[in-house]
Amino acid sequence: MNTENRAEAIVDLSAIEKNVKHLMAHSSAPALAVVKANAYGHGLVAVARTAVKAGASWLGVALLEEALTLRAARVTAPILAWLTPISDDFVAAIKNNIDLAIPSIEHLKHVIVAAQKLQITAHVHLEVDTGMTRGGALYEWDELVSEAKRAELSGAIKVVGVWSHFARADEPGHEFNDLQRTNFEKAFEVVKQAGLNPEIRHLSNSAAALNDAKANFDLVRLGIAMYGLSPDVKTMGDSKKLGLIPALTLRAKLHLVKEVPAGSKVGYGGTAEIKTDTKIGVVAMGYADGVPRNADNSAGVLVGNKMSPIIGRVSMDQFVVDLGKESQARAGDWAYLIGSVIGSDKGGSYTSDTCYTADSWAGACGTINYEIVTRIGPRVKRIYLD
Ligand SMILES: *Cc1c(COP(=O)(O)O)cnc(C)c1O
Repeated sequence: MNTENRAEAIVDLSAIEKNVKHLMAHSSAPALAVVKANAYGHGLVAVARTAVKAGASWLGVALLEEALTLRAARVTAPILAWLTPISDDFVAAIKNNIDLAIPSIEHLKHVIVAAQKLQITAHVHLEVDTGMTRGGALYEWDELVSEAKRAELSGAIKVVGVWSHFARADEPGHEFNDLQRTNFEKAFEVVKQAGLNPEIRHLSNSAAALNDAKANFDLVRLGIAMYGLSPDVKTMGDSKKLGLIPALTLRAKLHLVKEVPAGSKVGYGGTAEIKTDTKIGVVAMGYADGVPRNADNSAGVLVGNKMSPIIGRVSMDQFVVDLGKESQARAGDWAYLIGSVIGSDKGGSYTSDTCYTADSWAGACGTINYEIVTRIGPRVKRIYLD
């Protein structure tokens, strides 16, 4: 029986391994591999294992449940979780040896209660707001540090790290990055003055790890670049320019191929008109799978090595592409939304001139490559290449 997948995301783990090694060598810093959001859509557990194998000494996630999933899969590397509302199960976190980010005194108190209940020392990373005005302590910083010192003396916690996050690291050389780095250094002085001695200071994301060695400190947090994608194509160039290999190929089956006449209006709202007689393909993937509904015709699919643009609006489970009058494509053929088999076989040497990429999809709907890959839904089967 022939039961091929309707749609699949093929994740080249060897590309992720190479990217991690490349980025660690480039920055000369130990790495925390960021695997939040199902490893940016690439698959949490498989990517985490690969990153550790490639030399990452830490794993980072947003949510506690992501950290617990890794522990349940017997991943033993140090894990930091940084988006944990105070209602989270800190007892489970501490029991499972998950380090917690602490952005406020209120968070610290909840973690101390859990640690005291268990009689286990909780490992924490104090988070300071150095200018992004999102996470981390601002006016509260000095008091948070004193409270943390007190809690460390009591044995409830150990302050393992101090960290912050850049707002504009994808704008290399921008003075705001210097300001944030200086603020970070000042915040660390407060920590030292309080008699705390955390081993790990970390500030850099992918963009900073690529651009600004002064921000490395003791650990760089690698996200998008580890997946082979550029933090910002406009300011930093594309994957190829950065020496990165895109790890993800996305493909779906052609559900239907048919000839249509000039003048046909395509899809909901009839927003696009066929200019000359042609063949269309109906691709079996839609916005329920993460294909952006508002992508314009600068995105599309590669079918039989021909770039075939979208026509009309993307529907929930399908969208229409222009295959061209002479196309030999048939129902059941693969349509490549991101990358191509040829590209991934050659180690991701493709560019947006030869096929569609996460970058071209991002451009086609006014977003960033991060959103394109993280939104790939659970109906899309993940396939791993080693
Ligand atoms: C997502 C995230 C990162 C990774 O950012 P990239 O731009 O993907 O490298 C690093 N640190 C924190 C706190 C994050 O939330």
